[in-house]
Amino acid sequence: MTILILGGTAEARQLAASLVADGVDVISSLAGRVSTPSLPPGRARVGGFGGVDGLADYLRREQVSAVVDATHPFAAKITKNVVQAANRTDTPLVRLERPGWREHPRSSSWTWVTDASAARAAAEPGRRPFLTTGRQSLEDFQAWADRDVLVRLVDPPAALLPQRWNVILSRGPYRYAGERKILTDHGIDVILTKDSGGTHTVAKLDAAGDLGIPVVIIARPEPPPVLLLKTVAEAVAWCRSPRDLRFVGPSIT
Ligand code: NAP
Repeated sequence: MTILILGGTAEARQLAASLVADGVDVISSLAGRVSTPSLPPGRARVGGFGGVDGLADYLRREQVSAVVDATHPFAAKITKNVVQAANRTDTPLVRLERPGWREHPRSSSWTWVTDASAARAAAEPGRRPFLTTGRQSLEDFQAWADRDVLVRLVDPPAALLPQRWNVILSRGPYRYAGERKILTDHGIDVILTKDSGGTHTVAKLDAAGDLGIPVVIIARPEPPPVLLLKTVAEAVAWCRSPRDLRFVGPSIT
């Protein structure tokens, strides 16, 4: 039995480690976006598949028994592609997605938006924003060259950023004290983030709440029409006896 894990998240790495420890043949797939990815145990491959056709070919070629889509909640394209590829090849597929922050005690005080440009509009009054929406969204904020934006990224930005912007390069998990210090040291007056969920990056939101700093948060895209699991333990159990594809919507071609 070969399990393909679409990864790039802490949960994907934990799942690979658990399955490999159980003697399961695992291939973890990474997009190759970060320069030094932490590679999970088991086999790994890096780079895109070449769309739905390439992914379907890959599933057949590698005789993949089942797929766990454990990509980031905002990696919408690969999540859509794997639904189609799995459907086409009759490969059992499940989605592992950590719960978002809708249940956070302060979530009702945040401004929820649907994308990066709506986030910029909602955060417009801020003069010292803390931007943690990811490298791919930076273009949407170029109009803010006149303000002191603090950006946090894993890897350096691909393009030159406005002169007044400051960049912090780091990778979570982040703790409350450090996050609070960043917010106060930089005089942050609004935080922009995505509903990534989990515990690794939530501390900034706790600190913002305590300091009275407004939060603008981008809501998750629609989940795919497949069985959704919230924990690595559930995914491990599913991999032991993967069920058939379970689309809840109309069949996808
Ligand atoms: P995306 O927009 O959904 O995908 C764009 C393309 O990248 C896909 O069509 C696919 O190329 C390739 N790709 C994405 N994930 C892949 C994977 N695990 N293995 C092989 N190819 C993959 O994805 P994204 O938002 O750029 O995210 C890329 C990766 O970074 C994901 O694996 C995700 O888990 C991780 N990540 C994303 C975020 C985020 O905020 N988006 C945050 C943290 C980590 P082909 O069409 O050629 O197959």
